[in-house]
Amino acid sequence: MMRRLFLTLCLLTLPASVSAQTPKLGELRVVAIRFNWQNDLRTPPSVSSGQTALAATDRLFREASGGKMWLTYAILGPVTLPMDRVSCNPFVWANAAVTALGSSVPAHDRLMFAFPVVSECKWNGLAAGSTWINGTWSVHTTAHELGHNLTLGHAASLPCRTTTSGALSCVTSTYGSTVDVMNASGVGHFNAISKRRLGWLTDAEMPLITTTGTYRLGPFETGGDPTLPRAIRIGTGAAERTVEVRTHQTAFTTPVGVTLHKALSVQMDTDHVTTTFRAMLPVGVDYREPGWTLRVRRVGVWGADVSVMFNGDPLPADLYPPDSPVSPPCTTSTQIIDASEAVWRVNGNWNITRNGVSMTRSSSTVYKALMWTGDTLYANSQRGWQRYIPTGTTAATRWTVPTTTAPTCKG
Ligand SMILES: [Zn+2]
Repeated sequence: MMRRLFLTLCLLTLPASVSAQTPKLGELRVVAIRFNWQNDLRTPPSVSSGQTALAATDRLFREASGGKMWLTYAILGPVTLPMDRVSCNPFVWANAAVTALGSSVPAHDRLMFAFPVVSECKWNGLAAGSTWINGTWSVHTTAHELGHNLTLGHAASLPCRTTTSGALSCVTSTYGSTVDVMNASGVGHFNAISKRRLGWLTDAEMPLITTTGTYRLGPFETGGDPTLPRAIRIGTGAAERTVEVRTHQTAFTTPVGVTLHKALSVQMDTDHVTTTFRAMLPVGVDYREPGWTLRVRRVGVWGADVSVMFNGDPLPADLYPPDSPVSPPCTTSTQIIDASEAVWRVNGNWNITRNGVSMTRSSSTVYKALMWTGDTLYANSQRGWQRYIPTGTTAATRWTVPTTTAPTCKG
């Protein structure tokens, strides 16, 4: 539809007739009912579009929960309600649709209702015990409304600027998050604070940092070194901040970089100077809060290295000093690397042998680093990280990466 609808909407008061008992772990059973009205026989959103949205929501919830929650679903209808459509009456329609289907509605945790677009309903989706889809099924609307069912509120942002008097002036933007599907648009994982609330992340997976140092984070979404934290926490209580690095490893769209949140789901502005909201903290730029400062040392699909400085401490040592090669040094223009490490720093062209398969890059591109994540090789040029699949293999036959082999570099 070309006509613009209002944003997704959540009602905080649940009607007494619907159950609020939704599992936050394990199987979430959704039954979707398509309907129209006796005086309005337009076709409801299609079964295939519902399947697409619900399947993508299943993938998102599985990935975001680390396999702790998944969706199963059935799509029923269409049902023509024995009533005229008058204005926007989602609760009346829902009751009529359930009554019409009677005992044919299978066991479920949540009901979802989908109907031809109604302009009087000023929302794309609605969550209030059940969920409603107004005209168009999309993964964003489905995941967002089911997120409300899981007790999550909206993912806000907090643009801040420094006034002429030096004070910080901040205004909450309710749907403003750039990374969390509980925002206005864009499909990304719930932030770390929401995941912890759902039991999808443990405190151990997002450790509290209390001493000055440089720390390595794994990718927030999935993959990477399983021993690395998915996020870190700095501060406690109302002063708690979470630090995540969003990557391109996920199947879902989200910006790349290091971002910070506070409770409940508020994405922080990493630029306190201008009115412009800067979601991602650039490498080498300081982010300051009372008592501590954060600086990103490097970031990639493998995660990020960040330095945290408490109480005015100086910048701590980097994990990989930018001007020093990893040990053993790789100083020649062509290097042979046969080991696994999070990041290999290279100075130019390179050759890699893995499981008997060799690959060489000798173009004019200057590569700065090589990196394994999971079973995929990435190389970084000035243009950013690029993924490589060895010659003679396909994405389905990626290399196996040993984890303990000592590095070998040869000129
Ligand atoms: Zn909402």
